[in-house]
Amino acid sequence: MINELSLSDLNNLAYILACVCTIIGIKMLGKPTTARRGMLISAAGTVVAVIAVFFDGQVMDSWDAGNVLRNGYFWCFIAILIGSIIGIIWAKKVQMTGMPELVALFNGFGGLASALVAFSSFYALHKIETGYIYDAVNDISTSIAIFIGLITFSGSMLAWGKLSEKITGRAIVFKGQKLINLFLLLVAVAAMVIYVTPSLDGFNLIAVLVLTGIALVFGVAFVLPIGGGDMPVVISLLNSLTGIAVAMAGFIITNTMLIVTGALVGASGVILTLIMCKAMNRSLGNLLFSGFGATDAVSGKDGTGAEPKAIPVEDAYMVLEAAESVVFIPGYGMAVAQAQHAVRELAGKLEENGAEVNYCVHPVAGRMPGHMNVLLAEADIPYEQLRTMEEMNPIMPMQDVAIVIGANDVVNPAAETDEASPIYGMPIIKAHEAKTVFVLKRGKGRGFSGIENELFTKQNTLMIYGDAKATIASLANEFTAE
Ligand code: NDP
Repeated sequence: MINELSLSDLNNLAYILACVCTIIGIKMLGKPTTARRGMLISAAGTVVAVIAVFFDGQVMDSWDAGNVLRNGYFWCFIAILIGSIIGIIWAKKVQMTGMPELVALFNGFGGLASALVAFSSFYALHKIETGYIYDAVNDISTSIAIFIGLITFSGSMLAWGKLSEKITGRAIVFKGQKLINLFLLLVAVAAMVIYVTPSLDGFNLIAVLVLTGIALVFGVAFVLPIGGGDMPVVISLLNSLTGIAVAMAGFIITNTMLIVTGALVGASGVILTLIMCKAMNRSLGNLLFSGFGATDAVSGKDGTGAEPKAIPVEDAYMVLEAAESVVFIPGYGMAVAQAQHAVRELAGKLEENGAEVNYCVHPVAGRMPGHMNVLLAEADIPYEQLRTMEEMNPIMPMQDVAIVIGANDVVNPAAETDEASPIYGMPIIKAHEAKTVFVLKRGKGRGFSGIENELFTKQNTLMIYGDAKATIASLANEFTAE
């Protein structure tokens, strides 16, 4: 009965409602048709959780009308104000192609926030006059939140620097690197053991200081040897670590919402990481420790020494005009050019002309999972025309034209033919098996992994140089002019 429910029960109910909204929202993000609503439901859950914080016992107990600075509500409003201003500015500014950088920053600050909660708990527990009362859950959670939270913070800052090209995006490897990392890890574990052992309480402050320093250094050391096309996977892994740190912060301040959402982020981050690894046909261990992308450009084998053949839009139109089946293969360049609406227009013209149109999306095309799906959905491209790589590859030889729009690595045949290639073994879209291949790109730029692409010099491949949006629009115009 409602009148028997205490404020704290209602508060917990609100947290549970917020968790349910988050879970339903995540589920709905799985399909383009329900993704927008899912996003709104998750956002509504977050609003419920924020309001619930105001009725949280720990915040209410901090009410002090006489001293604003000791008042929890004051600090909540300051945090909401700063967070909202930064959030709104970033959300308005960020380009779709800059999402991984933004996620890197979010991860980093999430980790830092969790570590700060742990520091404040450490400070509060060790300052109370009655002395410290041993609490195993709190001690373990505090040490893990500091360690993982700060690894995530420094690692994410480095990842952000690499992705935004403030520093080299390549993997940085040196002799003895793995040994140094192992040593750092062992010292951190020793500090954590000291922190959680009641008889060693006198060393708590030293343990926390050592843990803090090692975690910050280890975050950097962990991300240094990873580079190139592997960076988005690391972002996903760091995202997962943020989730674990947040869940630990939840245990420290006994907040159900933080524990559940932290666990969700932790688990989904791991799943996403493994999905990406599978799509690149790499193991997580190989990805984290192989130093892939450490060298400068690696050549894909061509064998013929041939040069790519370029054609003008007018000639490409003649081929398209006669085509009965066309498949669009979008990649990162389509996102850069924001060509999705122009693609939709050209597809319409091709269909009016009697051609069957399909879109084939590689799981790691672009710079984040689902990147291409989001862009194609934004342009109202019918979901039924989207084909997976597994569906499209067997019928690729029957396609009259494959139009590769700013994709490079995901259509690189070296993944199948060149054992020396770093992407050898990665499943690719077999665009080269179509009767004719048009590759739309601005020039001789390489893909994210920095390797050359033998597709461009194949007999049946024709390059159409220029910004993808302008090229597609010109092709659509040719149909209109007809
Ligand atoms: P790539 O990064 O391989 O290639 C993009 C191509 O787009 C470049 O060759 C560039 O050539 C071209 N381009 C850039 N701007 C334009 C423009 N305005 N108009 C036309 N073309 C343009 O992209 P892919 O999508 O093929 O591959 C994604 C890469 O990211 C893979 O290496 C993948 O492993 C990696 N990755 C992706 C993840 C994900 O979740 N999506 C996760 C992990 C890794 P030019 O400069 O000549 O125009």
